Amino acid sequence: MKRALNFNAGPAALPEWVLEEAKKTWMDFNHTGMSVMELSHRSKTYDDVHNEAIMRLRNLLSIPDNYEVLLLQGGASLQFTMIPMNILTKGKVGAYVLSGSWSQKALKEAEKIGETTVLASSKDSNYTFIPELDKNTIPENAAYVHITSNNTIYGTEWQDFPEGLSVPLVADMSSDILSRPINIEQFDLIYAGAQKNLGPSGVTVVIIKKDLLERSSDSLPTMLNYNTHAKSNSLFNTPPTLGIYLLSLVLKWAENIGGVESLAKVNSEKAKLLYDVIDESDGFYKGHAEKDSRSKMNVTFTLPTDELSKDFLNQAKEAGFVGLNGHRSVGGCRASIYNAVPVENVRQLADFMKKFQEQVK
Ligand code: PMP
Repeated sequence: MKRALNFNAGPAALPEWVLEEAKKTWMDFNHTGMSVMELSHRSKTYDDVHNEAIMRLRNLLSIPDNYEVLLLQGGASLQFTMIPMNILTKGKVGAYVLSGSWSQKALKEAEKIGETTVLASSKDSNYTFIPELDKNTIPENAAYVHITSNNTIYGTEWQDFPEGLSVPLVADMSSDILSRPINIEQFDLIYAGAQKNLGPSGVTVVIIKKDLLERSSDSLPTMLNYNTHAKSNSLFNTPPTLGIYLLSLVLKWAENIGGVESLAKVNSEKAKLLYDVIDESDGFYKGHAEKDSRSKMNVTFTLPTDELSKDFLNQAKEAGFVGLNGHRSVGGCRASIYNAVPVENVRQLADFMKKFQEQVK
């Protein structure tokens, strides 16, 4: 069996250790005579899986007790709606920093719920950088400030997060959660679809400061109210049990290799391999992101012509690389190098890029 050199943007590569572990329990989980998927979500065996996933996330990210960790469904996209529904209270304004398509989508949903404003945007440059947030532009009646920590499509990432805001900070961390140490206390709400750094699709992690839960109105639809899930330990209805089990295994893998600091070190090493090739290519490979906004998760680049991009992608495919096509709004190529992508695979891609450039000289 040959595993692909997987650079997919999400769903994305999972650690092989996780897949092997899951395989071992596929027919018989913990001597129950059934798989995790077949367990009742009200059973003690499943409850342990569920709580272990939450506990691991709390430990790895050092989440303080005054934050709830929720495991929801509906993807990060449902959070675009749930956030304003729950915390954009009457008379207040949802303030957004636009750094890519996903923040634009988040804003669009908030506009349907209440008043919004844009604090900063890099749209005019086709999102090549993270726009500067000037705290003085935050309206007094802002309900929150929303940012997207990593822009999956454009390959840009906040290097440092805003500090000392007078209003809650909300971050979509779908594509860089668990990739580097963060100070949770800088944020009031963090959300992320699991399918990049945390596990399979179908689970959405929401980390929310408990005092923010007071904003949710009782008149909200039950499933769309954060309190419903906070009060029931994310077991109000049937959770995605298999996804949560796999999430727990990914977190165990992360613990085993030394936690977020170790992951961050390896992620920097991987990103450097590719950015060095770009920077040393005499302009043959052109990075989409400005250097000081570069993402360590999604490396986006173009070649001198569309024809060459096509050739590159075709040859890469033949060589076993998967998922290198850039998103249509940027064109060219994108290598997603999330936590589970091995350094060795990134090294192979870097070598391939160098060889391709040599060959067309
Ligand atoms: N935000 C970001 C930063 C993303 O990369 C994505 C998906 N690629 C989304 C939100 C949407 O996530 P989902 O498909 O889980 O709704």
